[in-house]
Amino acid sequence: MLRHKGFKSPSELHKFLRDLTPSNVYYSCAYYENPEARMDEKGWLGADLIFDIDADHIPTPCKKNHDTWICPNCGFAGRGENPGKCPNCGSEKFETRIWACELCLEAAKAETLKLLDMLLEDFGFSEKEISVFFSGHRGYHVHVEGSAVRGLDSVARKEIVDYVSGLGLDPSFHGLRLTRYGAARLIQGPNLDDEGWRGRIAKGVYDFVLTASEEDFLRVGLPRKTAKTLVENRGKILESWKDNGPW
Ligand SMILES: [Zn+2]
Ligand SMILES: [Zn+2]
Repeated sequence: MLRHKGFKSPSELHKFLRDLTPSNVYYSCAYYENPEARMDEKGWLGADLIFDIDADHIPTPCKKNHDTWICPNCGFAGRGENPGKCPNCGSEKFETRIWACELCLEAAKAETLKLLDMLLEDFGFSEKEISVFFSGHRGYHVHVEGSAVRGLDSVARKEIVDYVSGLGLDPSFHGLRLTRYGAARLIQGPNLDDEGWRGRIAKGVYDFVLTASEEDFLRVGLPRKTAKTLVENRGKILESWKDNGPW
């Protein structure tokens, strides 16, 4: 692979590609004073913000139909995502055969749309600063270009990823809290039309209540009595969201 190339003009790049006709061409998301220098002498000026959304990392139910893994150490094999550690011999290496089906790609697309919503609405980037590319395989690449992101260091980039994935999110900072009203305990929560994670929490809970079975409510840790009450009063609960929410 030919690396560390830099070009002063588009025509210089065109000529290089014509002369060499490589089968694949990649470019760095970073900006350098001197791209052709050694890594430590390039002079890092900044980098675009890039998200890689890959169906591999989304736990779709169809994976158990089309993905297989085998432990090369003992021959133990299974379907779906590899278990991380071989249940038979404990080895952590696997040979996998994976496939991204229509459902997997749809799942990647849905995650990409969620991310775009956050970049536009929560972070306030403009559509002009954002590009979306099919990764050519199992997902999408989302590029954000612009002076606001170029100088961000790795800690700042990690913060953005944490925000986007909801890591370390404290619901009490997003309008969800327990208060007392006399002897009663009241849960207050965000509204469906709130901005950012507030609205996202409200919409997520609404969608869950809309379709959840009694078993689903049990699975998220509610007592059976509460689960029954929720199922029986589903209509009223959803209706109350038109005002201030049922919290
Ligand atoms: Zn094994
Ligand atoms: Zn699939």
